[in-house]
Amino acid sequence: MASGTSSSASAVAVSPLTEEELTLTVKWSGKEYTVRVCGDDTVGELKRRICEVTNVLPKRQKLLYPKVGSKLADDSLLLSQIPFKTAVKMTMIGTVEDDIIVDPVESPEIIDDFELGQDEVVDIKDKDVNKQKLRRRIEQYKIEVRNPCREGKKLLVLDIDYTLFDHRSTAENPLELMRPYLHEFLSAVYAEYDIMIWSATSMKWVELKMGQLGVLNNPNYKITALLDHLAMITVQSDTRGVFDCKPLGLIWAHFPEYYSAKNTIMFDDLRRNFVMNPRNGLTIKPFRKAHANRDSDQELVKLTQYLLAIAELDDLSALDHRNWESFNEDGLKRRRHA
Ligand SMILES: [Mg+2]
Repeated sequence: MASGTSSSASAVAVSPLTEEELTLTVKWSGKEYTVRVCGDDTVGELKRRICEVTNVLPKRQKLLYPKVGSKLADDSLLLSQIPFKTAVKMTMIGTVEDDIIVDPVESPEIIDDFELGQDEVVDIKDKDVNKQKLRRRIEQYKIEVRNPCREGKKLLVLDIDYTLFDHRSTAENPLELMRPYLHEFLSAVYAEYDIMIWSATSMKWVELKMGQLGVLNNPNYKITALLDHLAMITVQSDTRGVFDCKPLGLIWAHFPEYYSAKNTIMFDDLRRNFVMNPRNGLTIKPFRKAHANRDSDQELVKLTQYLLAIAELDDLSALDHRNWESFNEDGLKRRRHA
């Protein structure tokens, strides 16, 4: 892509137009709210901003705006494609979910994690529009520190669904759906890593799930922070369209004295979530069908070994985390020969 000077030059020339900020007024439940978005954001992104000020989850929102037809029903549509007028207000219809035990099963399941080509990943990460989105998210999103960052520790960021918990199976007790060895894993790696949890769901759901599993009050480890869907950004790829991802740069910008690309690793079952920081993600084998796999799943045991082995390295991003299993085996050999 580096040699495509003419095409990238024209892209740069066009981008200021699409990056233009829009300030929209949204009427909901008798009150007016202001949200800031840009033309390169999608309708889905707009709904997240509205969620931030109203607490109505994006999937519960219906947006009404004169003369745009059903455009606002398409979450992947870019806002630059909708003819907003400054003087016209938008109306949102939707209800806050206080009853958070809404069945997450009703949301469509994302099973296949697509692989983006290497060039495409580099492209997405380096695109000005995406860097811009990240900067805005850094300004907008507050990370609440539950337990202080610790000097000299690395950072482990964990997804929840299918990484720590099988959210699609049902059980009387949520503990039955917890990935085996979760507490042992967190207790062991806490010696070397601060731990944050980042889920593509709402903060209420994150707190509820982690509370039910006993992750928030375990005496053997502490969770530094929880992050939710509002911390994510939407990016576009040429081959896969629009999707959301978890930019670690948001955490690094909030805690520059503690965390960086060099000392952070994130586990997620969806590789695309690391697209803004591909060197820092480890794609974990999804934990599904908890009832059948509970007795055999050893991933967290093996990953404990990996995390502790690499904790002594100065730069985690120099590793290729796709080879984590062979790193473990090599380590075993090294120890045997020692
Ligand atoms: Mg997941």
